[in-house]
Order: sequence, then structure tokens, then C-alpha cells
Amino acid sequence: MADQIPREQWAAVIEKDGGPISYKKIPVPKPGHDQVLVNVKYSGVCHTDLHALNNDWPLARKTPVVGGHEGAGVVVAKGELVTGLEIGDLVGIKWLNSSCLSCTFCMQSDESLCQAAELSGYTVDGSFQQYTATNAAHAARIPPGADLAAVAPILCAGLTVYKGLKESHARPGQFVAIVGAGGGLGSLAIQYARAMGLHVIAIDGGKEKGEACVKLGAEAYVDFTTSKSIVDDVKAASGSDGLGPHAVLLLAPQERPFQQATGYVRSKGTVVCIGMPAGARVSMPVFDTVVRMIQVKGSYVGNRQDTQEAIDFFTRGLIHAPYKVVGLSEVQSVFDMMKENKIVGRYVLDMSR
Ligand code: NAD
Ligand code: ZN
Repeated sequence: MADQIPREQWAAVIEKDGGPISYKKIPVPKPGHDQVLVNVKYSGVCHTDLHALNNDWPLARKTPVVGGHEGAGVVVAKGELVTGLEIGDLVGIKWLNSSCLSCTFCMQSDESLCQAAELSGYTVDGSFQQYTATNAAHAARIPPGADLAAVAPILCAGLTVYKGLKESHARPGQFVAIVGAGGGLGSLAIQYARAMGLHVIAIDGGKEKGEACVKLGAEAYVDFTTSKSIVDDVKAASGSDGLGPHAVLLLAPQERPFQQATGYVRSKGTVVCIGMPAGARVSMPVFDTVVRMIQVKGSYVGNRQDTQEAIDFFTRGLIHAPYKVVGLSEVQSVFDMMKENKIVGRYVLDMSR
């Protein structure tokens, strides 16, 4: 098998803050003793990759770094300590490339909180390359025969929103508002929420995103670009009592929604912060938060079990979020569209072109 692995490969590399990202040939990495080498077939493009390109978070990034953290491919080589994965197995590359697996957070399966965690496409080279090394314990297990282009967005977007919905503690029959519902995370969030028996109020901008949200199963759409009062419109859409959604998933990479959500969430409801607009702050009135017993929390990707559960929803045919496939060489044009909020659903890169 090893002689089929080339020495060089195509990759999209972040070399300069703000971009453009470089599409170039680089050496194929060798897997470390606890890693598998994955021949990546498809990789989704997440808004986090744009934050990485812009270097706009208060989190140190490696430079240069190969971007990407939503890769799906085939194991082509493995380190000597790897058990439980074989050559030919289908796996996914996640944001959490590795964690120590022995700190207090890892021991409780809160691996994303590990202080020694390595992040794909950020602190270590990610999935925007044809061959990526990733920690075997953290590689997502993808069932044989899966459509690798369709499953790629599950590895960050799907996992993150599925975990966020669990963290919201919303129960079947309750309402969840999804802010940024027409984007990559949002379109998957609508589908997971529907599969979990929740009623969805979608919030995004423009007619095209509205139509996509309704098609995916949202019961109401609030257009933030035309709504006179987002608070009133969201509450009005939250069932016959109009008391607001039981949970809110904040996915938009914009600050404003982080200041609006406590205005419309139902008393005793939960606001889950997931989008990470650069430099933004959450703000809410103390009085309302207290007397309406509102919870505000963050949710950060998910652990290995969450990953397998999110993939399981996909495998059972419950998730059909829209995605478009373009070549790896076109990744910069995807970022250009993303900056202008023009993407409905996800773009997935075909690594062979
Ligand atoms: P995306 O660009 O695909 O989608 C964002 C959507 O938000 C777009 O459809 C846009 O139109 C919409 N939007 C913009 N302003 C809005 C507003 N004021 N109200 C409502 N909608 C608005 O981005 P994505 O890939 O879905 O990622 C979204 C965010 O989530 C990014 O900040 C990303 O870094 C973050 N993220 C967080 C985690 C985590 O673990 N917490 C994981 C993945 C991504
Ligand atoms: Zn992501």
C-alpha cells in the first residue's frame, strides 16, 4: 500500500492573514505513531476556516497551516501504536485533531476542553490537502459505503449543531430558534432539530435562504434584513402562546444576534452560543435574565461519542442538508462568497481537482 502514496500533493495553505489562501504542492506528511494517514476525498468549508484565514480570534494559530477540519477519506497508512483502524477504513478529520485523553476534561469526555488539544487547520495541518495525518483515537468512524461528499459537513457542522441541540435541553414538541439557519451549521441544525422532534423557527437574511430553510423543515422564517422587530416576529412564530422558543442556537458569525436572543427566548429557556464572531460580546439585561430564569451557555464542537451519534443520524437517512461540490483549487472563491453571506448550506471541496 505504502508505495502508492505519493511524495507530493495539492493543498490549500494559509500563509498570509486575510488571504488569499495558497493552492500549491507540498510534501505528503508521515503519520506519527498514534496517527493514521488519510487520503482525503472531500472536505467541507466551515466559517471557522475563514476565521482561521483572517486570524481574527484570540487563539494562536500556526503559520503556515493547511486549512480545513471537515475531511472525509480513506485510511492509507497507520502508526505502529494504532489499533482499531485498518487500511481501507473510512474516517473523518474533525476540528479536534487530538487531545491528551488523560486530563480531567478528557477523562469526563469533554475532550474539546483539553488544554493540550490540537486543532485541525489551526494548530496542526488540516483537511485541505490530499493526505492528512490525524490522531487515530479522534478520527471519526464513517460506515463503509457512505457518500463521502455528503458526510463531510457532518464532521464539524453536523456534530456541532447536534451537540448544541443536546446542550439546549429542548425536548420533542418544543420550539428552537436557529439563528444563521441558512448557512452551513444552520441548514444542518434545522434537519437535526426536526429529527429530534423539535419545531424550528429559522432566522437568516434574504428570500433564497428563507426558501431553503422552509424546504429543510423550518415552520417559520424570520428575515433579519427586513424584520421590523426580530423579538416580536420570533415570539409570534413560537406556537399559540407566543411566549418565545424554548431554546435558541446562535450560529451567525455576527454580534447583533448575541444581544437580541434573551429578548425572545422563553422564560426558563436556554440560549446556546455557537457562532464565534470576532471580538463580539454577549450582552443581556441582568433583570430579565434573573426574573425570567434564562440560561446562556456556550457549546464547542462535541466529543467522540457525539460525533458517532451525529454520523448515525446521517447514516439512518435523516440528514439531507444542501451542499455544492467544487474543486480544492477553488477554495478562495468559496471564502469570497462566505464573506458576503451568499452561501446556502455548505460548500464541499473535491480534493482530486
Ligand atoms: P456560514 O457562513 O455558512 O453561515 C452563517 C449564516 O449566518 C449565513 O447564512 C448568514 O447569512 C447568517 N447571518 C449573518 N448575520 C446574521 C444575522 N444577523 N442574523 C441571522 N443570520 C445571520 O457559517 P457556518 O460555517 O455555519 O459557521 C457559523 C459560525 O459558527 C462561525 O462563527 C463558526 O466559526 C462557528 N462555529 C462554531 C463551532 C463551535 O464548536 N462552537 C463549530 C463550527 C463553527
Ligand atoms: Zn467547523
